[in-house]
Amino acid sequence: MSAGLVQAAYLVAAICFIWSLKGLSNQESARQGNYYGIAGMAIALIATIFSPDAQGFGWIIVAMVIGGAIGIFYARKVEMTEMPELVAILHSFVGMAAVLVGYNSYIEPPAPISLDLAEQHAEHVIHLVEVFLGVFIGAVTFTGSVVAFGKLRGVISSSPLNLPHKHKMNLAAIVVSTLLMIYFVKADGSMFALLVMTAIALVFGYHLVASIGGADMPVVVSMLNSYSGWAAAAAGFMLANNLLIVTGALVGSSGAILSYIMCKAMNRSFVSVIAGGFGQEVQVSSDVEYGEHTEITAEEVAEMLKDSKSVIITPGYGMAVAQAQYPVHEITEKLRAKGVDVRFGIHPVAGRLPGHMNVLLAEAKVPYDIVLEMDELNDDFPETDTVLVIGANDTVNPAALEDPNSPIAGMPVLEVWNAKNVIVFKRSMNTGYAGVQNPLFFKENTSMLFGDAKDSVDAISKAI
Ligand code: NDP
Repeated sequence: MSAGLVQAAYLVAAICFIWSLKGLSNQESARQGNYYGIAGMAIALIATIFSPDAQGFGWIIVAMVIGGAIGIFYARKVEMTEMPELVAILHSFVGMAAVLVGYNSYIEPPAPISLDLAEQHAEHVIHLVEVFLGVFIGAVTFTGSVVAFGKLRGVISSSPLNLPHKHKMNLAAIVVSTLLMIYFVKADGSMFALLVMTAIALVFGYHLVASIGGADMPVVVSMLNSYSGWAAAAAGFMLANNLLIVTGALVGSSGAILSYIMCKAMNRSFVSVIAGGFGQEVQVSSDVEYGEHTEITAEEVAEMLKDSKSVIITPGYGMAVAQAQYPVHEITEKLRAKGVDVRFGIHPVAGRLPGHMNVLLAEAKVPYDIVLEMDELNDDFPETDTVLVIGANDTVNPAALEDPNSPIAGMPVLEVWNAKNVIVFKRSMNTGYAGVQNPLFFKENTSMLFGDAKDSVDAISKAI
């Protein structure tokens, strides 16, 4: 393949990746988005393998077969709820790859493009900076992702590491690394400076993520997604590979945008996530008197639903744990057949990863047109007869709006309590992810249906 053809193929692949992102932003086009991504990656791989610079064809095939086999094995095996930890460990590979590419590019620098000596010098300086930054970002991403994986898996304590002067230490790591970069360039590429910076960056990545509580880890994973994109872009600069630069920038910016959206939906500060500063354990005050809660049976809920004209279902993490989406779809169909207007209200951070609920409902074949975003139906609750809160807790907590001292104060929530009747499906009076009690459970129009969400929904379906 000629060099020109390779660049043309890269351009087509980059366009496929952009279409892929566009497709993935909507449930209905998500499958198509994946196909574009697959096509783009296939074009990119073929063009790279057959490019004039490529060597060691046999080794590439062996690596691809081993890597592909491991990837297929894990992709088939992983549970939806384990997705964040799989993503975290995959990011660590991108980080490590950037470090290795950096060292390789340092040991074997590319041949200069320009003939002019002054320009060759400038090229060399730029290359040294690329190597240094690529290794730094890669090393931070590597250890940060490994710690995120460990916390999500439960092999590392999920409580935040609170070393004294932790922000000053982070700042010192950045300042020292910057000074080392200046020295690295001035000394025409000192291996010593590169090694010291790598060690600092590895510790920095560890410390940055270890300082964040396990509860906030999904946002951190999304942020590391962004870091891994920038690490890949840095590797692209070192290898002078335009497609890797474009792809890395796409991943880097989309990861940053996703983190921003998640932070906004959780009412967290974006800057403090980047700085690794938030995630202190929530102090739950236990001396607040909430009153009595009311219980209800599945049969009573079935009667209530049959008498309702409009029903809104707000699912949360508990629906994912119980795998209740299939019977939820079943009762939806039964009620719709009886002329009841059934809709779903999805909070942007319901579950444990963005789009978690949408994926589960799509899996159970719930029609897309009745699955609405929080903002689309928050005003409709006062005209709703019955709301089924299935395994959701924080995302329907009125304290977010009513109690300025609540740890989730300011987080936009589904205002389910405005409906005529609210049924909450959960197993106990335990708190949700944020660790705060939910005053909704004690409201007059709320009834608790205790038990595993799947068993409860099955029982309702039978009774209907
Ligand atoms: P929550 O985590 O607040 O609550 C889930 C509820 O489900 C719990 O109260 C639990 O109660 C119940 N539950 C668990 N298992 C079952 C089961 N088998 N059957 C019935 N109920 C069950 O969920 P939400 O979805 O409302 O909120 C998501 C939280 O996650 C928010 O705080 C959000 O900020 C956070 N988050 C979300 C991210 C995202 O991207 N989606 C990312 C990071 C954080 P019990 O134990 O009594 O059964």
